Amino acid sequence: MTNDIVHWVDGGELAGEPDGWADVTNPATGQVTGRVALASEADAAQVIAAAKKASRSWGTTSLARRTQVMFAFRELLNSRKDELAAIITSEHGKVHSDAMGEISRGLEVVEFACGMSHLLKGGHSEEASTGVDVHSKRVPLGVVGIISPFNFPAMVPMWFFPVAIAAGNTVVLKPSEKDPSAANWLAALWKEAGLPDGVFNVLHGDKTAVDALLTSPDVQSISFVGSTPIAEYVYETASRHGKRVQALGGAKNHMVVLPDADLDLAADSAVNAGYGSAGERCMAISVLVAVDPIGDELVARIADRTRTLLIGDGGREATGAEKEADMGPLVTKAHRDKVSSFIDSGEAAGAKVVVDGRDVQARGGSQDVAEGFWLGPTLFDDVTPEMDIYREEIFGPVLSVVRVRSYEEAIALVNANQYGNGTAVFTNDGGAARRFEADVEVGMIGVNVPVPVPVAYYSFGGWKRSLFGDTHAHGTEGVHFFTRGKVVTTRWIDPANRPEGGLELGFPRND
Ligand code: NAD
Repeated sequence: MTNDIVHWVDGGELAGEPDGWADVTNPATGQVTGRVALASEADAAQVIAAAKKASRSWGTTSLARRTQVMFAFRELLNSRKDELAAIITSEHGKVHSDAMGEISRGLEVVEFACGMSHLLKGGHSEEASTGVDVHSKRVPLGVVGIISPFNFPAMVPMWFFPVAIAAGNTVVLKPSEKDPSAANWLAALWKEAGLPDGVFNVLHGDKTAVDALLTSPDVQSISFVGSTPIAEYVYETASRHGKRVQALGGAKNHMVVLPDADLDLAADSAVNAGYGSAGERCMAISVLVAVDPIGDELVARIADRTRTLLIGDGGREATGAEKEADMGPLVTKAHRDKVSSFIDSGEAAGAKVVVDGRDVQARGGSQDVAEGFWLGPTLFDDVTPEMDIYREEIFGPVLSVVRVRSYEEAIALVNANQYGNGTAVFTNDGGAARRFEADVEVGMIGVNVPVPVPVAYYSFGGWKRSLFGDTHAHGTEGVHFFTRGKVVTTRWIDPANRPEGGLELGFPRND
């Protein structure tokens, strides 16, 4: 039986009249498990129209009612997150515990958005001018579009939609076609939580669906997360069509290890942040900058740890081993082959292959994983900035070590990079860490923390070619993005104290 994954609109599934279908695979087995509809322009128009219709009533629904729905959604998601994690593992490949981690970071944003009534409070100034009061408020935008990447099919949409919905907007989510099922599961959960039909919609597809969102006059804003070339295209196209845009792009995150650092902590962190989720994280560490003289010792400790990792099917207890796999497969065969070709190119360019992931043996337990999209963790030493493996975002389990002589050289390297998403410094010197924090041109910084993803009440976003637009995701910046400001200046006539009135054509003064 075919598992057809179709759009979700007005509280139910919509088959529509797709332009085509894309296969969805289980990356651990290589088997096709379903197919996802690729929306036609007519399908996209129907989904956007439903969101527009619902926005009229949702935007004026009381804050109390909206908050009740948010809490109900939070409770349901928390109690059923295992189900969602299993869906993520089956289409993305990341191991179960990693999928649970992604959901918990999404849940954080839902919890943040449960406090929307506080976040939407405006200001009030009495007697700003004689007999005149001023107050401000923030109102919803209307229909907002969210376009998400394959690597976090639940968390990245949850960076945006809880805030957008709690603030009174309606949503059209265009998930990645590589792992589309999580979005439909979340849509059904919203319905169960009592969200009115049409407030949360899912439009599946490719460029046609994306372009429909970017150009529709009925969509007020675009929140995009994905690779830098598409982020730039989305930013330019949606801006040209008068929309508010936040477009988060790719990354090349450097971890700088200073000579006084705790080398065991640094080695553990490099392995966890380099190979977690098979390196398919925008906050993965892909470059380790070893400041002399610790390079040899650090590389040896990382290599020892890397060789102990268990690579296998990420489904819970699916490896047939005592423990869950540490790392699953890559998302598609094409992506696995691309990452593998980067390893070939790094070797050809003269980098030293310390651990080679190309001859990986994956564990499958009860599943046949012979056709899975496997690639083991790979460690390169003596990488230099002109090599492709340094310049390009590989987005796989490949960690490159660059040796530098000094702190100054390390900072210059990080700041010369086109990306500025995340970075980390490892040191026991508070002064050095403080200086790094000031010197580095990157949006999210970790001090002895390799994956510094901000908590939900701060905002997530990078600098330079890692983010197009001004506003970062979630936190107060997210609330600002999903609302428009209004300022109201009021004069009520007090019969006991009437203003003099009369004609006065000069620009209004305050006194
Ligand atoms: P991608 O750019 O290929 O796809 C992202 C979205 O854009 C998907 O929904 C896809 O369907 C759509 N898309 C793809 N090609 C398109 C086109 N030509 N026109 C219009 N839409 C198009 O990214 P991906 O491979 O799914 O995800 C990995 C990338 O996302 C990496 O570069 C990673 O660094 C980045 N990412 C960044 C962050 C961040 O916060 N900065 C977070 C997660 C992922």
